[in-house]
Amino acid sequence: MTAAPVAIVTGSTSGIGLGVAARLADDGYRVVVNGRQQPKVDAAVQQLAGPARTLAGVAADVTDEVQVARLVDQTTARFGRLDLLVNNAGQPNVAPAEDMTAAAWRATIDIDLTAPFLCAQAAARVMLSQGSGVIINISSIFGRTGNAGRAAYVAAKHGLDGLTKALASEWSPRGIRVCGVNPAYVQTPLVDAAMAAGGFGAAELSRRTPLGRLGTSDEVAALVAFLASPAAAYITGESVAVDGGWLAYGGW
Ligand code: NAD
Repeated sequence: MTAAPVAIVTGSTSGIGLGVAARLADDGYRVVVNGRQQPKVDAAVQQLAGPARTLAGVAADVTDEVQVARLVDQTTARFGRLDLLVNNAGQPNVAPAEDMTAAAWRATIDIDLTAPFLCAQAAARVMLSQGSGVIINISSIFGRTGNAGRAAYVAAKHGLDGLTKALASEWSPRGIRVCGVNPAYVQTPLVDAAMAAGGFGAAELSRRTPLGRLGTSDEVAALVAFLASPAAAYITGESVAVDGGWLAYGGW
């Protein structure tokens, strides 16, 4: 019998990442749960625990390359391989562009663009030696379109969709597929914070969405599970929207 595949989901102590970790664990992956703080990681592992699930928790700040190396090293030390990296950790930044400090700009680029690169690089070093692996970048509708008050986030997520194409071009010939996911609004702590900071609510978002509601973490997780699976064996370099029709709709 071949060993169960191994996945790292960055930022999986809450929101979409937690949902993705649950789905992958149910699909038979041995899942490494990650966040910055060990107590939150431990709590998420406890929350996710179930008789048929294999989980481990590794705290690491994914903007720090030393901690990223440790995240991957501890994963392979524990489970012996790495088959899937889901670059999910991310943070919004809602501020008028003219007022954004250079430090705030850099912090957003760090977590939403540089961190996925650092994690992909560390994961690929393992996957290239295995000759197989999948990397999935959790982008956003704002990787495809713009919005006022989100210059750094929009720039970072557009960069992330570009990174998906670049890494797929470079690594797919050596066995690694690289894909992306572009969710619209999903009710998570991140969106609660963005709604509070941006002065909008779920009713406005639902009105703007052809399917008439926000998305769920489970719906994003289902797309991640598909893209990670052999059913998506011929898909690489592509970012797929799960957005209730948000990007298709040009009205107001
Ligand atoms: P969330 O705030 O609920 O969760 C973010 C997770 O990332 C948390 O576990 C947090 O601990 C972790 N994290 C943050 N910085 C980190 C760091 N430096 N190192 C390690 N972990 C870190 O957010 P969410 O809404 O679930 O968003 C997850 C991803 O989905 C983000 O990349 C976000 O941009 C993207 N996204 C979210 C939505 C949405 O509507 N919620 C829509 C589109 C895209």
